[in-house]
Amino acid sequence: MNCLTTLIVSIMNNFMPVLPYDTDGLAPVISKETIEYHYGKHLQTYVNNLEKLTRGTALEGEEIEDLVIESPEGPVYNNAGQVLNHQLYFLQFTPNPRTDRPEGKLATLIVRDFGSFEELKKKMTEQSIILFGSGWVWLCMNEHGGLEITSCPNGDNPLRHGKLPLLGFDVWEHAYYLDYQNRRADHIARLWEIINWDEVSRRAE
Ligand code: MN
Repeated sequence: MNCLTTLIVSIMNNFMPVLPYDTDGLAPVISKETIEYHYGKHLQTYVNNLEKLTRGTALEGEEIEDLVIESPEGPVYNNAGQVLNHQLYFLQFTPNPRTDRPEGKLATLIVRDFGSFEELKKKMTEQSIILFGSGWVWLCMNEHGGLEITSCPNGDNPLRHGKLPLLGFDVWEHAYYLDYQNRRADHIARLWEIINWDEVSRRAE
């Protein structure tokens, strides 16, 4: 294996997204300390586990989406699900949102399927609060192009169920405990302030 091939393989196997903001960029909604633990420790551990589990196997070099969709229940699936979840999560935020709500086609679909943006926020917040234990709440697009809110336990991802994830709230305690302790609802209420709607809309294209 020459150097170039080694480099390509190492990039293909590096599932860590590059944060599009500084670690303190989302404060006070999400503190620097939480980003350092959540991105730097939790996500890095899922990435390390997934790389260790796939290296030297037929799965090496597979796209993360394919690993999530095709892996049987078990360690590869659990870690791949969490890697994809967190890639989408960290890339959906921005310190300087251009708008405080979706625009264009996504805005039209939200009105069609939820009645209003306020109603979507209310429903997604409610789902985040009632999800028992650890998991994720997603705004996603189903196979018919309709929008829906889907709750996923643990590291599950809507892609596994034929739905396209657009916006995800991580309700594992590690996502908010340092900043909000047990007040999950307070954390979710503030997340709306840092969403990059351009990125969320792009996912729906
Ligand atoms: Mn997390």
